[in-house]
Amino acid sequence: MIIANWKMNGSKELIKNWIDVVSRDIEINETKECIFCPPTCYLDFTGTLVRKTSKGIKLGSQQFDSELLAPLTGGINSQMLVDIGCEFVIIGHSEQRIHVDESNQILSNKLKTAIEMNIKPIFCIGESLHQKKANQTKDILIDQLDALTSSFVDKCIVAYEPVWAIGTGENAEISYIEEIHSFIKEELRNKKNSTNGISVVYGGSVNLDNYKEIYSSNMVDGLLIGGASLDSDTFTKIYNMS
Ligand code: PEP
Repeated sequence: MIIANWKMNGSKELIKNWIDVVSRDIEINETKECIFCPPTCYLDFTGTLVRKTSKGIKLGSQQFDSELLAPLTGGINSQMLVDIGCEFVIIGHSEQRIHVDESNQILSNKLKTAIEMNIKPIFCIGESLHQKKANQTKDILIDQLDALTSSFVDKCIVAYEPVWAIGTGENAEISYIEEIHSFIKEELRNKKNSTNGISVVYGGSVNLDNYKEIYSSNMVDGLLIGGASLDSDTFTKIYNMS
């Protein structure tokens, strides 16, 4: 699967142009989902446009709020995402973890709620540079994976996104990605006792120069692309050629 995360970028006009180009040029492969996560305020608009193209581009939200926080002025809950046709939701992105200070309890509740509402979570985990340098990566990942209970393992996509690689132009080396993905898959297997339905995608400065090497690894089940997904041609090329 190839996921476009637009983060806090875009406008109606840019989204419309992107969908026009992507839906014209993309060669959708049923076994490789194409998921577009625009900013929350454009989800409904985007959903209407992607459905019109009949290309099978799926709608994903960059976030929603846990019901544990209700009442919450400005909040968006899972029912609202279902109402506008969202099939995926990013949970635990490092930018949310850092700025909104999401605890494992909140994240666990979000995972449960999304799955109960039939929205597939894209659960992000990853270590900071400081943690990597201190050799704490695996401990951090184990702690983050604690939010994911065994019965949800095969209902989620796990996105390994080293924090130091997000938006920095410095992707992780393929040998490092393979080592960490293999570790994550082993942890997930231990929780679930089977390899069925386990998907681990990589995110962090994926671009036209590095996507091929990363995606071609059999440890990598997909890509989560931020900055490089904003350009419709780049995103389409990465999707078509991966
Ligand atoms: C992201 O924000 O999830 C991401 C992977 O960003 P970028 O591709 O820009 O590093």
